[in-house]
Amino acid sequence: MRTLQVALGERSYPIYIGPGLLGRGLIGEHLAGGRALLVTNETVAPLYQARAAAGLAGCDWRAVVLPDGEAYKTLETCQRVYDALIEGQFDRTATVVALGGGVVGDLAGFCAATYQRGVGYLQVPTTLLAQVDSAVGGKTGVNHPQGKNMIGAFHQPRAVIADTDTLATLPERELSAGLAEVVKYGLIRDAAFFDWLEAHAEALLRRDPAALTHAVAESCRNKAEVVAADEREAGSRALLNLGHTFGHAIETHTGYSGWLHGEAVAAGIAMAARMSTALGWLDERDRARTEALLQRLRLPTAPPPIPLARYRALMRVDKKVQGGRLRLVLLRGIGEAVVTAEFDEAALERTLREHAA
Ligand code: NAD
Ligand code: MG
Repeated sequence: MRTLQVALGERSYPIYIGPGLLGRGLIGEHLAGGRALLVTNETVAPLYQARAAAGLAGCDWRAVVLPDGEAYKTLETCQRVYDALIEGQFDRTATVVALGGGVVGDLAGFCAATYQRGVGYLQVPTTLLAQVDSAVGGKTGVNHPQGKNMIGAFHQPRAVIADTDTLATLPERELSAGLAEVVKYGLIRDAAFFDWLEAHAEALLRRDPAALTHAVAESCRNKAEVVAADEREAGSRALLNLGHTFGHAIETHTGYSGWLHGEAVAAGIAMAARMSTALGWLDERDRARTEALLQRLRLPTAPPPIPLARYRALMRVDKKVQGGRLRLVLLRGIGEAVVTAEFDEAALERTLREHAA
């Protein structure tokens, strides 16, 4: 097991990573003496609720099982969690335990942030994306019909327990989608990790336990360092959005169906790399390495055909537009990224045009 720490003063917390963690009593150790509400979904419950129950042995807990899917990441679904908390007479010493992917984690975290003005919660992520990204950093929330993650709160968990054994049952596409975010950490700030990923791409696809544990741990270490330096995204935390502005345009255009978030991010990373090369910031060799690694991880490196004008418009509605200027995360090299509005628009135009329908 690897243990890391997210350094946020009195809100600091541990991240545990490794095989076999679910049954080891770690969940029970972080309940601070209170009762627990386990929040999971109908896909994850039959796979892992019994193991989580072993980790809660001797504790006073109950469970609520939600329907599966991004479509259920809503305030209406939160109501079911609040109902379970109130019916179970949970008080402010309650701990919410989120067992599942990013959807369960974001929603359960938001319920914990708001129930009785805030109770503790644990992230027990079971997808690669949740283990390397969404479970760490304290962003919680749900979707509004008009936009993704529109209702939310910053609320840090009390601990993150990432049992890498749970990745065994993850569909292949979900595994690859999570790997897109893993590659992102190497690109934005950790060239040595990028090298390691190039050497271990096949081991990761094979779900070699040691390789997965290393990839999750290095991703969490990088994310924890970024979050510790800029918890509320006043500046450098925006580096985590590499590929996301190009990617969000894909997700919006396709109506969030067909493309997984990580797949859109992979295409977005490849586009950001292409644009960085067009600007003369990223040399062609490193651009090609980036694209090759994504492809080996079975990820797309180009968007679906989107009409040029529409792609331009979709990029503008991204949250990263500030004062009318589009800000993008671009690469200066492998392991070095910048967030900037200072770029030659012609390079962006060229990149969009290359793929336009
Ligand atoms: P998800 O939660 O929808 O999980 C993907 C699918 O895998 C679901 O069907 C789920 O039930 C299933 N699943 C979960 N664990 C499994 C397992 N071990 N074996 C088999 N199937 C399993 O999707 P996700 O990719 O984990 O998370 C995406 C969500 O995370 C989005 O809502 C996104 O907005 C959010 N997110 C949040 C942050 C953050 O900082 N809070 C960061 C990135 C993404
Ligand atoms: Mg992402």
